[in-house]
Amino acid sequence: MELKTLTIAGVRQGLLEKRFSAAELTEEFLGWAEVHDRDIGAFLSLDREGALAKAKAVDEMIATGAQLPPLAGIPIALKDNILVEGIKTTAASKILENYVASYDATVVAKLKEAGAIIIGKTNLDEFAMGSSTENSAFGVTKNPYDITRVAGGSSGGSAAAVAAGMAVAALGSDTSGSICLPAAFCGVVGLRPTYGSVSRSGLIAMASSLDQIGPLTKTVADARILFESIRGEDPLDATSVPGKSFKTLSPDEVRALRIGIPKEYFTAGLDGAVTRGMETVIEKLKWLGLVMKPISLPHTRYALSVYYIIMPAEVSANLARFDGIRYGRTHNPQPTTHNLQDVYFKTRGEGFGAEVRRRILLGTYVLSAGYYDAYYAKAQKVRALIARDFDEAFKSVDVILAPVTPTPAFKIGEKILDPLAMYLSDVFTTQTNLAGIPALSMPVDGYRAERKELPVGFQLIGKRFRDDEVLAVGEFYERAV
Ligand code: GLN
Repeated sequence: MELKTLTIAGVRQGLLEKRFSAAELTEEFLGWAEVHDRDIGAFLSLDREGALAKAKAVDEMIATGAQLPPLAGIPIALKDNILVEGIKTTAASKILENYVASYDATVVAKLKEAGAIIIGKTNLDEFAMGSSTENSAFGVTKNPYDITRVAGGSSGGSAAAVAAGMAVAALGSDTSGSICLPAAFCGVVGLRPTYGSVSRSGLIAMASSLDQIGPLTKTVADARILFESIRGEDPLDATSVPGKSFKTLSPDEVRALRIGIPKEYFTAGLDGAVTRGMETVIEKLKWLGLVMKPISLPHTRYALSVYYIIMPAEVSANLARFDGIRYGRTHNPQPTTHNLQDVYFKTRGEGFGAEVRRRILLGTYVLSAGYYDAYYAKAQKVRALIARDFDEAFKSVDVILAPVTPTPAFKIGEKILDPLAMYLSDVFTTQTNLAGIPALSMPVDGYRAERKELPVGFQLIGKRFRDDEVLAVGEFYERAV
């Protein structure tokens, strides 16, 4: 059985035709991950016992001829900032090294109900802060196509697990490209859904006005299936909204969508491979009958600066809860700690890595009296202008096409000592998070288990709550490659 290339639809068909049982399949995936992940480092933990128990339950359902739920028997990996009851959830931070989640995230409850098999938790940049998964306290995740290169971040473990065939699909989280970027580096599909369409309850918060959970898969078709299973309103997340009707577009309806090409994203700084990739996509979409239109998103160049004010502000507030008392690690009070404040300071000083501390400091600064208006309030205004750019553009186009990153996967160690260079990896991804609109990242030449060259991705950006349109264009493209 060729595990590596199985899609959600492929597994379902195999189970229904009894070519393999859910238990056999799960055993194969776990076995492959146990061996192959020594080279990749995608997983922080595997849940062999839990996965096999669930697989057995799925097999019993199949034996009784019961109607199978949509994700029955699908081995899925979860970024380790998503809570699973009774399972360690570390956010790749020393401060949560031994933290065991006491409840299921809403997306996890939905996955379980849909019959999915959660095989393990994947590596990430500590608290999702980074673009390469090098900021994890527990080691770097390597790119399955070239292990001297990064898998991207912060959902690098989830992207690498899917690319290397160690999971059929995965969930990641995206605050500024953390699904889209690793998807592009690892040659898989990533959907960062519209803000509010998927519940954030049980996702360890980074920047709450930007965070969103989404799927990483081999195909756009799989991303749609997974997204359909996790989306919807949730009383536990006040920003979630009732699931809008989700249209399946006919080929004629897809061809009628107008595609915008934003000039600000096609700059001189693009790597040759990315430029060639984008040309390929534009040609293919034209050939498929879609109309392209040049557009402008004039505030694009302010997005990174805005993000690096708003995000740390929210980070500094959200991470205040990790004080050594409520969750996870506590500084051992003897012999140097004299009072409660000392416990807080020492726990946080020891427990957080350098990047996390840098952002807490920045965030505290931009929110402090005297600087609040100059930085935070101003950034919020510019954020509104960035969102308005998209609203304007969407008056004349339906979907926007853009590169995901300026370069393919870079070398491990290449940017880690230069935070600004690392932050620049997000130049094309942060805008959609700030605007709260959906972005689908997918490989130019489709998913390939074996590749000669590093994968290159492109993104399709849609109107708020029109995730169905970006998925439809993506699937249309995917069927043609
Ligand atoms: N590169 C972004 C950052 O470091 C990624 C954040 C995210 O999407 N989780 O903030």
